[in-house]
Amino acid sequence: MKTKGHRTEGSRYYPKRYDFDPAMRNAILDEGLVCHVAFQREEQPIIIPTGYCRVDNTLYLHGSVGSHFFMEMAKGIPVCVSVTLLDGLVLARSVFNHSMNYRSVVAFGVTRLVESDEERWMAAERFTEHVVPGRWADARKPSASDMKKTMFIAVDIQDASVKFRAHGVGDDPEDMQLDVWAGVIPLRLNAQLPEADESGIPNIPLPEYLTDYHR
Ligand SMILES: Cc1cc2nc3c(=O)[nH]c(=O)nc-3n(C[C@H](O)[C@H](O)[C@H](O)COP(=O)(O)OP(=O)(O)OC[C@H]3O[C@@H](n4cnc5c(N)ncnc54)[C@H](O)[C@@H]3O)c2cc1C
Repeated sequence: MKTKGHRTEGSRYYPKRYDFDPAMRNAILDEGLVCHVAFQREEQPIIIPTGYCRVDNTLYLHGSVGSHFFMEMAKGIPVCVSVTLLDGLVLARSVFNHSMNYRSVVAFGVTRLVESDEERWMAAERFTEHVVPGRWADARKPSASDMKKTMFIAVDIQDASVKFRAHGVGDDPEDMQLDVWAGVIPLRLNAQLPEADESGIPNIPLPEYLTDYHR
C-alpha cells in the first residue's frame, strides 16, 4: 500500500540505484545499528536517531516510558524510518563527480505500541541480539521493573525502498587526462579491541562472542 504523498518506486535520477527486493532491504536493516525516525509534531517535522532491530517485516524500537518521543509513537502515528550504511568516499578528478558509496533504506509505516508480554520479551531479546549476537544468553535478563520502565514500539513496514551506490569513479571523458589522483576510500564500521569495565569482578575472560565483533 502506498503511503500518501511519497514515492517508493524510486526517483528518475539513477533509477538503477534503486532496489525493491526485500532481501536487500532486510540485509541493510540487519547490518545497521541506528535508524532515523521522522514524524510530524504539530507543524514541526522532527527526526530522532534511535536504535532498532528488524523481525520479519517489522522494526522494533525501545525507549523509556517517560520519553516524549516514545509516548508520541505510542499513539500510532505515521513515520518514515531511514537507515544508512556508508561504504566509501568516491574521489573523482572533478569535484562535480565526487560521490559516496552507500546502502540506504527508506521505510514507511504506522507505529504500534507493543502490549503483549510475549511480543515485548521477544523484542527485548531480538534487540539485544541484533546489537551483540550472543549477549542475551550472557547478560542479566530484564527484571519486571526494567520491563515496566521500557516501552516497545513496532513499525510494521508498509512500503520501503533501497538505494545504493557501489562502484568506482564516474568521471567525464574530458577529465580523464587530468593529473589528479582519483579513486575510492572504502569505509567500514570497525570494532576496536573491547575495553573491560574492571569496576565489578576483575579479570572476567572476554566472552567468545566478543572476540570477533563485527557488523
Ligand atoms: C546512536 C543513538 C542511539 C539511540 N538509541 C536510543 C534507543 O534505543 N532508545 C531511546 O529511547 N533513545 C535512543 N537514543 C536517544 C534518542 O535519540 C532520543 O534522544 C530519545 O529517544 C528521545 O527522548 P525524549 O523523548 O526525551 O526526546 P524528545 O522530548 O522527543 O526531544 C526533545 C527535543 O530534544 C532534541 N533531541 C532529542 N533527541 C536528540 C538527539 N539524539 N540528538 C539531538 N537532539 C535531540 C530534539 O530537538 C527534540 O525535539 C539514541 C540516540 C542515538 C544518537
